[in-house]
Amino acid sequence: MADVHMGESETFAFQAEINQLLSLIINTFYSNKEIFLRELISNASDALDKIRFESLTDKSKLDAQPELFIRILPDKVNKTLAIIDSGVGMTKADLVNNLGTIARSGTKEFMEALQAGADVSMIGQFGVGFYSAYLVAEKVVVTTKHNDDEQYVWESQAGGSFTVTRDVNGEPLGRGTKITLFLKDDQLEYLEERRIKDLVKKHSEFISYPIYLWTEKTTEKEISDDEDEEDKKEEGDVEDVDENKDKKKKKKIKEVTHEWQLINKQKPIWLRKPEEIAKEEYCSFYKSLTNDWEDPLHWKHFSVEGQLEFKAILFVPKRAPFDLFDTKKKLNNIKLYVRRVFIMDNCEELIPEYLGFIKGVVDSDDLPLNISREMLQQNKILKVIRKNIVKKCIEMFFEIAENKEDYIKFYEAFSKNLKLGIHEDSQNRAKIADLLRYYSTKSGDEMTSLKDYVTRMKEGQKDIYYITGESKKAVENSPFLERLKKKGYEVLFMVDAIDEYAVGQLKEFDGKKLVAATKEGLKLEETEEEKQKKEEKKKSFENLCKVIKDILGDKVEKVVVSDRIVDSPCVLVTGEYGWTANMERIMKAQALRDSSMGAYMSSKKTMEINPDNGIMEELRKRAEVDKNDKSVKDLVLLLFETALLTSGFSLDDPNTFAGRIHRMLKLGLSIDDYEDETAGEDTEMPALEESNEESKMEEVD
Ligand code: ADP
Ligand code: MG
Repeated sequence: MADVHMGESETFAFQAEINQLLSLIINTFYSNKEIFLRELISNASDALDKIRFESLTDKSKLDAQPELFIRILPDKVNKTLAIIDSGVGMTKADLVNNLGTIARSGTKEFMEALQAGADVSMIGQFGVGFYSAYLVAEKVVVTTKHNDDEQYVWESQAGGSFTVTRDVNGEPLGRGTKITLFLKDDQLEYLEERRIKDLVKKHSEFISYPIYLWTEKTTEKEISDDEDEEDKKEEGDVEDVDENKDKKKKKKIKEVTHEWQLINKQKPIWLRKPEEIAKEEYCSFYKSLTNDWEDPLHWKHFSVEGQLEFKAILFVPKRAPFDLFDTKKKLNNIKLYVRRVFIMDNCEELIPEYLGFIKGVVDSDDLPLNISREMLQQNKILKVIRKNIVKKCIEMFFEIAENKEDYIKFYEAFSKNLKLGIHEDSQNRAKIADLLRYYSTKSGDEMTSLKDYVTRMKEGQKDIYYITGESKKAVENSPFLERLKKKGYEVLFMVDAIDEYAVGQLKEFDGKKLVAATKEGLKLEETEEEKQKKEEKKKSFENLCKVIKDILGDKVEKVVVSDRIVDSPCVLVTGEYGWTANMERIMKAQALRDSSMGAYMSSKKTMEINPDNGIMEELRKRAEVDKNDKSVKDLVLLLFETALLTSGFSLDDPNTFAGRIHRMLKLGLSIDDYEDETAGEDTEMPALEESNEESKMEEVD
């Protein structure tokens, strides 16, 4: 690049993370450098998609360069490799923003992935593929022309900065981008025709624009001596001597010609018949579509015919992308084509949000070519396509479920999406519910489906029981399960934050109600005898319930005798339609919710006490004698706080709780330091066994 052609250069610093990424790319050894070509071709293809889409509504956008192509130009003399496209190009602002100053969300994630041992070929997934050029080049020059701006040159040898210069006298591109790589001395293999052709075949086979390679052709040509007197004298070709004996007037010479050779086929794979496509072809198509480095987990290639026609290939990846639930970035990976012409990525109307992880292509015969994003929103054809796609996706999940191992992988990666689907997609809710899997009190190491749960239901069991919480560990020994376990009823563990939302929508499965073990209204079958016994207990504990409610005040809605606990003294349940403890935890964790909102939305709690528990029995007796017994008050508060914890809530004031426990410990250890105890404590609360203590002191006096 001769500087004399240039306007004034402006220098820019790379954004800090991009700079770090560049150092990492340049200074770390990666064996898989060849992927740079795939990344640059993929960018070229994206740029071509953009201009083609723009031209659908405004033909004149193609005027500056009507042909759409990608060209690869190796230059052995200068040791450069150029990738040229007639795509949309970049304005000066695009150059500055897209190639160096605005960090992509994936920059940091990619570096972390690399450091964790990920392969450099993953780069494209993180949206920073351009920088892979520095795997093989010491300097990169980007010349580009956008319809709305002059031609500019971006140039950098990494090292912290790049320059952008108006290209005053450079060769005009018309429209598009030329990326020139000044190859490192040990990377000259990428100038070899064979190597480039193989790479394009391997990584870029499904690019739907023609890829041309500048090739050198040597042909032997026969010419007569007369025509080529001078040549004969200069070359004095020895090999030709024998031949010259026979045909004295003829001679062969080598002629070198150059041409742009087409090196890819562009028939879209989705137009071919599924039975004629090898598994490997689907996999490599998937990889070229998504930049994924792994094969897909599953796919479906189908066409819909009739009133409306379209062809599609849908893929389920093996893993969730790093930004699956990044709310800023709407994931949508279905490319929309109309009669083979690429229309757009991210067509939101094609697939609901919960299926945003599905990748693929849809090619419609019916949509108009010049459809705009605005028109898409009301388009009836698109609505039908969408319905079909959802149906096919769910079919695909059931197919995956036929293979246990695959389904475990799938479920690990995408169960949250299914649950979101339960929440959002009322039409398919029942079907999606069949795909759910949970651990349970009886599932062991494997998760169970709701269907299997139903087959294990006990005689007389009407409902499906579940408990929500933070983790399997946190719920499996919950006091709420005591009675259910004793009756032999299975309880599902719903320990994903999103389960709360999903189950709230699902409500029932196969005609059976889903019932939370932690909420009010848990009614278990009981015999007449049991019922009578309960009634008696209820009566005898009526007074204690009142006393406890008086002590706890607003902390609880009411206090009742429980029939769900067997061992624990008490639990706190929430209203059938209110938040569970788990939901309260989730909402508290969402920092955006202001505290005032939290106050009135927090769960209304009912304390259920266990009449068969020794502690309760003792309390009952004491309350009977003196309902103002101070030891009763303190114990009740302690029981309440402990129940908060075992029921999955958090403590508002752990220090007071700890204070109470410490006093218990001292009591247990018979440590007698009354002054210490009361110092700095909330005065409202009497010290444990205060009355006794006082009397003791009186005695001493
Ligand atoms: P991604 O392709 O995922 O966006 P890249 O790092 O590969 O990430 O490219 C960064 C950006 O640079 C692209 O989004 C695009 O705006 C711009 N870009 C790169 N190559 C080209 C090209 N050949 N033509 C036009 N724009 C390009
Ligand atoms: Mg890219």
